[in-house]
Amino acid sequence: MGTASGPRRVGIAGFEHETNTFRSGSTPLADVTIRRGDELLVERGRRTYAGGMFDGIDEIGATAVPLVIAGAQPSGPLEREAYLGIRDELVASIVAAELDAVVLQLHGAAVAEGVDDVEADLGAAMRAAVGSEVAVVGSLDLHANLTSATLAPYDALTCVKYYPHTDMYDRGREAVQWLGRWFAGERFATHVERLPWLLMPTATDVAGPAAALELCDAAEREPGVLDATFVHGFPLADGPAVGASVLVTAVEGVADPAAVASRLAGRIWARRGEFEVELHDPATAVALALEAARDVAIGRGPVVLAETSDNPGGGGVGDGTHLLRALLGAGATGLFGSVLDPASASAAHAAGVGATITVSLGGRLDPTSGPPIEATAEVLALSDGRYELRGVGWQIDLGASALMRIGAMDVVVTSASQQVFDDGPFTIHGVDVRTAPLVAVKSANHFRAYYGRIARAIVPVLGPGLSAQTTTLPWERVQRPIWPLDPDTTYPDTSYPDTSYPAP
Ligand SMILES: [Zn+2]
Repeated sequence: MGTASGPRRVGIAGFEHETNTFRSGSTPLADVTIRRGDELLVERGRRTYAGGMFDGIDEIGATAVPLVIAGAQPSGPLEREAYLGIRDELVASIVAAELDAVVLQLHGAAVAEGVDDVEADLGAAMRAAVGSEVAVVGSLDLHANLTSATLAPYDALTCVKYYPHTDMYDRGREAVQWLGRWFAGERFATHVERLPWLLMPTATDVAGPAAALELCDAAEREPGVLDATFVHGFPLADGPAVGASVLVTAVEGVADPAAVASRLAGRIWARRGEFEVELHDPATAVALALEAARDVAIGRGPVVLAETSDNPGGGGVGDGTHLLRALLGAGATGLFGSVLDPASASAAHAAGVGATITVSLGGRLDPTSGPPIEATAEVLALSDGRYELRGVGWQIDLGASALMRIGAMDVVVTSASQQVFDDGPFTIHGVDVRTAPLVAVKSANHFRAYYGRIARAIVPVLGPGLSAQTTTLPWERVQRPIWPLDPDTTYPDTSYPDTSYPAP
């Protein structure tokens, strides 16, 4: 493994998918983007996981060996053969590269057909191939559903701490810093303490999550504790691994990660009432937004409405019409980003800027989307839907897109599914969001990284949709009891098992 002399060889690989098991249909290989070898070099200099990994590898004086990173937009479970093919390619690339270590970009909430915990399965396959002499570390998203089986194959896993995920780069870099410690002879002890808790996506600057960050921060100052993270989990996954947890990584023999994690879990659980965010139905939200837009006393900038219930970043389909219909019904003036509707985008491109077309917009991809919006639309601008994400450097591709005016709303219509992070969907159509009285976006929290700085007020919206709250979903396979489905759920509760999984 590796060369006896010369720099250590560290492979960069990964597989990322956030699986919403409530989506109908599975995710085929065609929906997975796979980048190999030198294609990963574009990550150098970006504020991404892999960007941090490249920099970390330079810092510890090792040689980066870019291998394979695969990923897909949040969607339904991966087709079994697609996952197994990706897994086997990843493992083969790691074996062939003769590495001293591998650092993986993972999500932690990937599910494939017949594989409830993809990260556990992938890690086990890798470990079986490389043995114990090669270090295997990785990074996780905050929305990871973890069990001890997930952790078992890895020497250690870092996890994003903030939502919006502003620390992806730091976590990628941290995972490699831990490799530096591993090369120096340290070994790690890890523990995941599972909580019986379906936590809806919640920004980390509100009361409860902020308190959890402080508690974890204090724990990290204890001797031997490398990392303590309250992992929010991804709640739209009907399986035995779903739920929030506390992940602790310690230097082996110096600190006891299980004791630290269970203490933190108890304290955070006790404050779970502080995690509630007030969400409004579309009609109420629009009324509140219009009122805030008229109130000059509360500051400058647009009022931002966030349709959390149809967030393509959480497995929402992106063609829901509930919020847009409420805005049109109220006669609101503003911007809407965006509605996934390739046919309407294509019709706009065919008609050209300045044309007036008849659209039947959205409302097709899921029964929760609501009916299409039947309207006359003026085509204001066209684009190829490509832009670079502010502050991160990711290339976003919305496909052929158009800005069209329906009533007094200027609506971005796209050909590819994507949540709204920043102002990119509007700027590519020549619009400055800062001058709009009102901006509506399909996103749960990631929009806050940009819009939090420019909005005079933010109004979260909960309508029907596949990224809506948990209590209304048709649960079948989740471990019960679990809060808030079961209001009497207690923790600690020894009847709540730490599940492990057989290989597929
Ligand atoms: Zn996430």
